[in-house]
Amino acid sequence: MSEEVVARPSNFIRQIIDKDLQQGVHQGIQTRFPPEPNGFLHIGHAKSICLNFGIAQDYQGKCNLRFDDTNPEKEDIDYVNAIMQDVSWLGFDWDGEVRYSSNYFEQLHDYAVELIEQGLAYVDFSDQDTMREMRGTLTKPGTNSPYRDTAITKNIALFAKMRAGEFAQGECCLRAKIDMSSSFMCMRDPVLYRVRFAHHHQTGDAWCIYPMYDFTHCISDAIENITHSLCTLEFQDNRRLYDWVIEHISIDVTPRQYEFSRLNLEYTVLSKRMLIALVTDKHVAGWDDPRMPTVAGLRRRGYTPASIREFCARIGVTKMDNLVEMSMLESCIRDDLNVNAPRAMAVLDPIKLVIENYPEGQVETLHAPNHPNDESMGTREVPFTREIYIEADDFKETANKKFKRLVLDKEVRLRNAYVVKATRFEQDAQGNVTTVYCTYDPDTLGNDPADGRKVKGVIHWVSAEQGVPAEIRLYDRLFSVPNPAGEEDYLASINPDSCVIKHGFVEPSLAHSQVGSGIQFERTGYFCRDSDDQTLTFNRTVGLRDTWAG
Ligand code: ATP
Ligand code: MG
Repeated sequence: MSEEVVARPSNFIRQIIDKDLQQGVHQGIQTRFPPEPNGFLHIGHAKSICLNFGIAQDYQGKCNLRFDDTNPEKEDIDYVNAIMQDVSWLGFDWDGEVRYSSNYFEQLHDYAVELIEQGLAYVDFSDQDTMREMRGTLTKPGTNSPYRDTAITKNIALFAKMRAGEFAQGECCLRAKIDMSSSFMCMRDPVLYRVRFAHHHQTGDAWCIYPMYDFTHCISDAIENITHSLCTLEFQDNRRLYDWVIEHISIDVTPRQYEFSRLNLEYTVLSKRMLIALVTDKHVAGWDDPRMPTVAGLRRRGYTPASIREFCARIGVTKMDNLVEMSMLESCIRDDLNVNAPRAMAVLDPIKLVIENYPEGQVETLHAPNHPNDESMGTREVPFTREIYIEADDFKETANKKFKRLVLDKEVRLRNAYVVKATRFEQDAQGNVTTVYCTYDPDTLGNDPADGRKVKGVIHWVSAEQGVPAEIRLYDRLFSVPNPAGEEDYLASINPDSCVIKHGFVEPSLAHSQVGSGIQFERTGYFCRDSDDQTLTFNRTVGLRDTWAG
């Protein structure tokens, strides 16, 4: 079979790159993915990863992984490690070593000194409230700081003192001298450096001044020869500052920033602040809780890297803000698992079915196909015995014709096995059926009944003697409203049924299934073995159909 060539959808960024290459603006393409290690990556980051690494792949360029680590108090080495793992798992290789903005602290410092030497930066001792006051508003220009005209030599000495730790946190900061009446707030003498006596996960205690994002990011891009610096729309205004810094320092490359819209996804939140709160306040079991929109959570839920990449391809890249339907993400994993997940049987709400004309103690080994449409996936052995489990809601004493399952005095096929006919049943004190008795037709293994009786329904089952008990977690959407971030209190809209735990039975072949690899439990949904199972535990990845639609 010839390999299918998948045409990647173009987007406005690829069009800019095509033009730059045609016009000889660049010979090669260099992008970067710049996470701040202050949380786990989420599906929104995956969009940025697929964009940056995807462009590098398609244009034979390179993509760096660079930690944007200028906020030591909020960052952690555990986040650094989780982020590297997630980027690799998504299927991308960064160019060379992992990079850190903190690798460039010395250079950044020197560029700050260059700005001071040109009279383009000054040390400001105004307190925070005064600074905020003097910034003005969108409708009111700012006012100049009394420190704005300090002599260059004095500023150089003061900045050296800042670095030497001679000023307390909050006592002063270094600001760019640009324009306090600019219509872009970020150009009103933005802060470039602040004092922080904080231990840094990469540089330890070497520094007590840390550069701000806007100053750090553009210079790091320039140092790494980034050609196209792709970020989300909220940085649109900051592009002025990005260009201003590059223009005024002695670096002779000009990276360009382009902005695209962030991914927003229904029934979840993608704000790091909200995700951190979900974890620290224990609304979920951790960053990799299968209900979290994090890459680690999706992995544990049973999403495959290919399904996440496919989702990112389907949503595309534009400058339009929108809220993407959760069903779009779900259909990506469903499409993947429908083709790639082997089938097996599991009973989630078991009741017993006793086949009274089947010999006691007999164990018959049946062979079931692993995939109905793909013979190459082979078959597996499924033990059949006199007592089996079926789903409680697959039996009714009486029912109309629409109910294609087991009804008293009627026949149904047991999936991969025989046709049985229910004869009687037992109930508990509450009226719940506990055991159904039936007879089986020994001539119906792989055959329709000889006399032409029509058996419409098929139900799944697990041998009561040979089946293995398992905990089955039915995960659903974490929030019950499409846009929780838009609610007054997003925590109040957490879906109380986002995790329902069942104690069921699975066929023995599942006792050794691999962590994370997808399986279709026939008629029930797609599942995968949990990574943290003390006992046999399966997580529901997604149902067989979209039950939220309509
Ligand atoms: P923070 O508030 O901590 O800065 P952030 O969401 O911007 O949060 P970063 O770690 O700075 O997180 O993001 C790394 C990269 O991922 C950035 O280039 C950012 O634009 C991109 N990114 C983050 N969230 C999304 C999203 N929802 N959709 C698309 N890209 C995103
Ligand atoms: Mg950020």
